[in-house]
Amino acid sequence: MLIINAGLHAGHHCVALRIEGEHIVELAPGLRPRAGEEVFDAATAAVLPGLHDHHIHLLAYAAALESVACGPPQVSDAAALFKVLAEQGARAGNGWMRGVGYHESVAGDIDRVWLDRAVPERPLRIQHRSGQLWIFNSAGLQRLGIRDGVAGDDPFERHAGVASGRLYAGDAWVRERLGGRMPALDEVSRRLASFGITGVTDASPDNALGEFLHFADEAARGALRQDVLVMGSAALDPAWCQPGLAVGATKIHLRESDLPDFDATCARIVHSHQSGRPVAVHCVTLTELMFAVTALQAAGVRAGDRLEHAALTTPEAVALVRDAGLAVVTQPHFVFERGEAYLSALTADEIAGLYRARSFVSAGVAVGAGSDAPYGDANPWRSMAAAQQRRTRGGRMLGADERLDAAALLRLYGSSAQHPGGECRCLQVGAKADLCVLDRAWGAVFEDLAAVRVRLTLGRGRVLHAA
Ligand SMILES: [Zn+2]
Repeated sequence: MLIINAGLHAGHHCVALRIEGEHIVELAPGLRPRAGEEVFDAATAAVLPGLHDHHIHLLAYAAALESVACGPPQVSDAAALFKVLAEQGARAGNGWMRGVGYHESVAGDIDRVWLDRAVPERPLRIQHRSGQLWIFNSAGLQRLGIRDGVAGDDPFERHAGVASGRLYAGDAWVRERLGGRMPALDEVSRRLASFGITGVTDASPDNALGEFLHFADEAARGALRQDVLVMGSAALDPAWCQPGLAVGATKIHLRESDLPDFDATCARIVHSHQSGRPVAVHCVTLTELMFAVTALQAAGVRAGDRLEHAALTTPEAVALVRDAGLAVVTQPHFVFERGEAYLSALTADEIAGLYRARSFVSAGVAVGAGSDAPYGDANPWRSMAAAQQRRTRGGRMLGADERLDAAALLRLYGSSAQHPGGECRCLQVGAKADLCVLDRAWGAVFEDLAAVRVRLTLGRGRVLHAA
């Protein structure tokens, strides 16, 4: 393929790129098409390396696409929830209905009786936004093989929740009971490609052999077309790596209310490093972040170690992260999506420390970004817009001092999988043909990032998306 009139850099003349196989083989002004060569006219629009989403949950995202949204912003009160469930429930078929994103602000602590009124016949289960609670209707319980008064060692019995239909922390049990089939990734991959995304890092902490093999199968049948760096449990083995699919960091999940033993955490970090894998520590609160940085310093930091979210920090914490040499993978779009709730729930000090970006960049910390889809918007352009503007959905400013400039914005998703927030990958002769062609020239890109559309996405020379 020959891409002509490509704007590689703002203020430079356009060039043409010739792609053969998986690579860019020529890059110069005025290349002429060869006989039979496919030509794509970028029409002076910006062309940049394919984006990498540094933190996503592919399987949960695929499941969410097949699910009914049961919480804000789509559904905000009991009447709306009842209506959407009843409509879906009345459709043909008797397969499972799955709801996601429930929050008690919608209709309180709803239970099986409440759900039965909306969906009397089809089996239904609804997941709380925290991921920690499933609520079933009676048909759902029946489909699981659970009946009133039957003693067993299922978690409903242990949690005495059969009558309510409410099941806490039973995710793995439910999955096993439902047959454990993992969702197809065609639609997820298609959507990501439409945003110009050619690579992702799956950040699910439980990823192990089963998930890795599923990604490999989905890639082999052409459903999953992005390169994937698979983070996850200690069970992942770097020796499994294959083209387009690599094993990444060991994910360590911290919860302030239930912090793990400090020495055991250090031992996990050391063990991960010895097996050739960096670590990625999930930390949202300041306490979690301090625990993470202290443990990493005690265990020893290696290249590739990173902090996921780093949602609440102080200037002192930013300096500690810098001194430790850690990268940060942030979610700027949460400022837009959740900003109104933050502004009403947090103190002024906390708000000042929320999802810092410029503070980190100015201190010399590498800052990459990931959607955290399905828990955040998968569109990286809206995420970059939020990092540029720091506006909530309601239009209020949150952290004006944390706005990023163009160079830092491009590094959020333009950096390589192994180095979130590092230098942007480069379109040059010999480089992998991972790229996207936008619908506008560089001069207009930063005027309205959220409106950017992608006309063409190539992943290793293959067309992943063509608008
Ligand atoms: Zn996540």
